[in-house]
Amino acid sequence: MSENTLTGTAELAERARRALAACGAADYEGSGPDALPARSPITGRTLFTVAGGGGDRAREAIGTAHTAFPAWRDTPAPVRGALVKRLGELLTEHKQDLADLVTIEAGKIGSEALGEVQEMIDICDLAVGMSRQLEGRTLASERPGHKLLETWHPLGVVGVISAFNFPVAVWAWNTAVALVCGDTVVWKPSELTPLTALASTALLERAIADTGAPEGVHRLVLGGADAAAPLVDGPDVPLVSATGSERMGREIAPRIAARFGRAILELGGNNAAIVTPSADLDLAARGIVFSAAGTAGQRCTTMRRLIVHEDVADELVARLAKAYTGLNIGDPFSVDTLVGPLVGERAHAAMRTALERAVAEGGEVVTGGGRRLADAAEDAYYVEPAIVRMPGQTGVVKEETFAPILYVLTYSTFEEALALHNDVPQGLSSSVFTTDQREADRFTASAGSDCGIANVNIGTSGAEIGGAFGGEKTTGGGRESGSDAWRGYMRRATNTVNYSTELPLAQGVNFG
Ligand code: NAD
Repeated sequence: MSENTLTGTAELAERARRALAACGAADYEGSGPDALPARSPITGRTLFTVAGGGGDRAREAIGTAHTAFPAWRDTPAPVRGALVKRLGELLTEHKQDLADLVTIEAGKIGSEALGEVQEMIDICDLAVGMSRQLEGRTLASERPGHKLLETWHPLGVVGVISAFNFPVAVWAWNTAVALVCGDTVVWKPSELTPLTALASTALLERAIADTGAPEGVHRLVLGGADAAAPLVDGPDVPLVSATGSERMGREIAPRIAARFGRAILELGGNNAAIVTPSADLDLAARGIVFSAAGTAGQRCTTMRRLIVHEDVADELVARLAKAYTGLNIGDPFSVDTLVGPLVGERAHAAMRTALERAVAEGGEVVTGGGRRLADAAEDAYYVEPAIVRMPGQTGVVKEETFAPILYVLTYSTFEEALALHNDVPQGLSSSVFTTDQREADRFTASAGSDCGIANVNIGTSGAEIGGAFGGEKTTGGGRESGSDAWRGYMRRATNTVNYSTELPLAQGVNFG
């Protein structure tokens, strides 16, 4: 594993200001008790501070979005689509600016940062199409002269709470779809990524002005959990779409349920691949390295467990270890880098603790785990992605550690592999590498993977926006993005229409 030198904090601050200005963000710097540090994991230093919000600003934002809702609800869906179309154009124009901010704040390498913005553009395209296809169904009525319809209506204010690791794509998934569905949005991004949020909001505000949409259809609130509390508890927020840790989900889900609000929860994963003896090991190794070490292990869909047949385990692990030693670790702005920094000290401490626990539970570190570039930037946390062979699925393997650790387990029968695969609390993403059609089909069948995403011969990460995204069990059960996930942002009404002159009652009931 090699490394490179780091972009300095002053230059990062300068690049961030330039990108923000290009996107049209202004007057964002601030101080005082609510101010947030805009920090870059590249050097671990604060670039400058931005004005925060807190609970009062959130309540105000909800009020504005609530007031804007009736006019937006009554705007025809294809006209709402025009706003999202304009947003997509502006995102395309400012793709590089936003990608630079993603790299600065989340530490993603250039290609992944551009990919994240491309995902925003893609979801805008999809949502524009959806705006002409928010379709209901007609159903057969049991009564003559009657028809039964299903119609879909906007919900109201959608609260979007997002995580640091997809600082803008997750907002776009929710916001592009919610807006065409006729909802208004209040966004509380991660406190670690205020700059990407300011830039995206400035672009949406331009799109709103350009298309004449009501000004209050979107509001941004910066801050931590306190700023999100009014979204969680507020009666005027019928839907909360929250992306983040299981811990966060456990805190907010009962509060939303207590007021009968709706929640789309997109929480942590503990994603695995099964590699069978028939697998194409070249392809498997490439897929595993991207999924396990890419994004420095900081994707919800990062591969964290490898369940490999005992006959091919040694060979596959040797190939992976070799590939890992060739990964360039360092400044994500450098074109040679494949692994950028962890987001911060807490993530590094969690990785260290997990590795220590793994060894105490009988694991053997095959490669990685060390810290890099500490001399160049003592507050930045660059790590060597780690591979650890485990004697079984012990306690630490069943938890999500948001860092690049790949635990390797072996199996002898496919049933055993499936049982190991599903024996964790989380249920987000999964894959099988095999050239045996039966194994592939068993993996994707009802008794196979219990995850929301089950892939064949590709890794666990890097989903396309066309499908519905989300997972089961402690991942929260939410679905976002493509397919019919838009239905989660609307309310359904069943309409029975009588176009006859009689009044027959259902189930043959006679009444007088
Ligand atoms: P986090 O839970 O620390 O924070 C996520 C968001 O929740 C932030 O905006 C934070 O301010 C807010 N938050 C935290 N506690 C809250 C509370 N009590 N009330 C209201 N808001 C609260 O997560 P993170 O470290 O930013 O992100 C990493 C985690 O997110 C990982 O577990 C990862 O798997 C998960 N994630 C899941 C998905 C998915 O689609 N399933 C996508 C990205 C990230």
